[in-house]
Amino acid sequence: MAAALQAVRGMNDVLPDEAGTWQRFEDTARGVFERYGYRNLRVPVVEPTPLYVRSIGEHTDVVEREMYTFEDKLNGESLTLRPEATAGVVRAAIEHNLTYERPLRVWTGGPMFRHERPQKGRYRQFHQLDVEALGFPGPDVDAEQIVMLARLWRALGLAGVRLHINSIGDAPERAAHRAALIEWFERQGDVLDEDAKRRLHANPLRLLDSKHPAMQEAIAGAPKLIDRLGAESRAHFEGLARLLDEAGIEYVVDARLVRGLDYYNRTVFEWVTDALGAQGTVAGGGRYDGLFEMLGGKPAPACGFAIGIERMILLLREQHAQAADAPDAYVVHAGEAAGRLARRAAEQLRDAGLRVVVHAGSASFKSQMKRADATGAAYALIVGEEEAARNSVAVKPLRGGEQFEVPQADLAARLAALLREPNT
Ligand code: ATP
Ligand code: MG
Repeated sequence: MAAALQAVRGMNDVLPDEAGTWQRFEDTARGVFERYGYRNLRVPVVEPTPLYVRSIGEHTDVVEREMYTFEDKLNGESLTLRPEATAGVVRAAIEHNLTYERPLRVWTGGPMFRHERPQKGRYRQFHQLDVEALGFPGPDVDAEQIVMLARLWRALGLAGVRLHINSIGDAPERAAHRAALIEWFERQGDVLDEDAKRRLHANPLRLLDSKHPAMQEAIAGAPKLIDRLGAESRAHFEGLARLLDEAGIEYVVDARLVRGLDYYNRTVFEWVTDALGAQGTVAGGGRYDGLFEMLGGKPAPACGFAIGIERMILLLREQHAQAADAPDAYVVHAGEAAGRLARRAAEQLRDAGLRVVVHAGSASFKSQMKRADATGAAYALIVGEEEAARNSVAVKPLRGGEQFEVPQADLAARLAALLREPNT
């Protein structure tokens, strides 16, 4: 026998039992984004490597050790599987001049790739939904994105995700803060791990993001950028806070929140939960006013966020166990005339928008009923010789209730009414 092959480590199959939750999540998110005027944009999963080095930054976890970079052997070009979507979206916006006439709200999504250590909530292929507002100076649009996410959590029935916000200022404030940070951490010498020592001069802001236990005290005492914001950044941040208050959105100002990619400035935010252990950030984003220019475009302010879909699914499945994609009805049948009636009735139910599975292949009534139950269907529709002769269908509620028979012509209306209001 040939040896069975396995998926790449950290890259998962999404099986049908779970995929229903993915679809419900994606449909709900799409619907919410559309209600705020976001339009879909799709970009490739592979981009030229320099796109990510320039935007995410050389001294970040992602670029230093997480990217799937390879040479296209046919032409020698260095390519990278996308570790995130914003850089590609901005590349596309510049390439197609998408913000030439007016600013643009777009969303995209799909698989992202980072060579991390696989664990719960952290994978090598994972999925995001990304939302980007291109050409907007804010802070109105920053607040609107956060309000939109709060609406999405409500629509999904999610509880217990909390909002953290911060401002990481603009370039001059960051430069001054950087110098103060280097000075501070140099004085803490012996608690710094190898990574921290190496990055201290290249990217001291990243030290604040370290999860290394020995460094936590040094991090807590480090100079905070939010205390040193210039007038414009401060006004932006206060504007955001006021708009969130106005919308009734609760948040904590988290001075340690810096985010892992270099292109952010001013507003940064994360939605976090305690329910997923160390991988508690389900969505994160912020402003990236310098990115268009860094990628060779005309300067344009912008703001966006990404939702980690796997973490959302873990959270959703933890909070509501039942599958949302069970069929409304499973049709059980035996005999030729019954088969014809079963298929005709099923098509009529589908015309009425119901989800119907017709038993395929031949099996005893008993094993067909077992199959019906296993699908999680609300009703079994039974068609035997006798029902076929009367042109009617027996309806058996599978989640409690009495069996009854209806003429085929009335079946769709009757079942649709029952599914809307199970007690009538
Ligand atoms: P973390 O701090 O958890 O590593 P991050 O700051 O690297 O997250 P972002 O680049 O901001 O993550 O990506 C946005 C979201 O995508 C994260 O909040 C998370 O939900 C999800 N995400 C990031 N990396 C992974 C991964 N390797 N596996 C699964 N989800 C991920
Ligand atoms: Mg990360």
